[in-house]
Amino acid sequence: MYFPLKRGLLRKKEADIKAVDGVNFRIKKGETLGLVGESGSGKTTTGKCILRLHKPTEGKITFNGKEIASLRERDMKPLRPGMSMIFQDPYSSLDPRQKAGAIVGEPLIIHRLVRNRKEYRDRVEELFRLVNLDPRMIDRVPHEFSGGQRQRVGIARALAGEPSLLICDEPVSALDVSIQAQVINLLKDLREKMKGLSYLFIAHDLSVVRHISHRIAVMYLGRIVEVLDQDTLYDNPLHPYTRALLSAVPVPDPFIEEKRERIALKGEIPSVLNSPSGCSFHPRCPLAKRECRQKPPDMRLVGKDHEVACHLV
Ligand code: SF4
Repeated sequence: MYFPLKRGLLRKKEADIKAVDGVNFRIKKGETLGLVGESGSGKTTTGKCILRLHKPTEGKITFNGKEIASLRERDMKPLRPGMSMIFQDPYSSLDPRQKAGAIVGEPLIIHRLVRNRKEYRDRVEELFRLVNLDPRMIDRVPHEFSGGQRQRVGIARALAGEPSLLICDEPVSALDVSIQAQVINLLKDLREKMKGLSYLFIAHDLSVVRHISHRIAVMYLGRIVEVLDQDTLYDNPLHPYTRALLSAVPVPDPFIEEKRERIALKGEIPSVLNSPSGCSFHPRCPLAKRECRQKPPDMRLVGKDHEVACHLV
């Protein structure tokens, strides 16, 4: 996904901003893929491309066997109920003037999923119960809910079309730590109840992603640098960036915590406008060699379901 960089009075295109480049992954039915990386790594843009909120510059997106990257909006419309998104901020993503019931029920009307008022009301109540909200709260407005309850309203709305893919974009990062676990557990329960529901779970924090994901894709500056399953993340993470992210996750056992190796990352993630040559992680990588500055590493399969892009692996 490239965005044009336009400057000057005439807004002439000067260059392309490569927000996401050469990204390749699959999500199986019923599977949760965690997409992790710092802000600015292209995670949200990837999610928006899949939902076709952005039309990708190039490449393929296959959803339930159908290529959707190049579909016109008119042809996308029937597929829309099958995929939806939960947003990061439950405070700004809900219309403050709308009642919670109307927020949750809106997709039912847009996608014509109910035939009459009674069916509409029954389905909205069912969605409230599904996310553990009391249906008597249907007539309340968002500011009468707590942060965690608002996120439940957002989840209920996202489930209205009975999607098979839910893109969860940092769904707990705006919530208190005590509430985060409740929302994660709710998402796990929903995955059990709604057989075949898949998640792309986007987060900047590995400690959140690892509890819910079957596999994890680590993203850096618009590219995926490692894909591995939950066990391999603990036993054998290979990319220096994955190892650095993992070393920042606190361990509850104080003895293990004391002995653990901490890998401090130098500086901040650069802008995609000034993407470094070769391996884009090289200015921050403690293991960088000359080759790393010259040539970008290819993604290689190094084990079952384990892929890494690093010259040293
Ligand atoms: Fe570090 Fe080089 Fe591997 Fe990039 S390719 S992660 S710079 S060792």
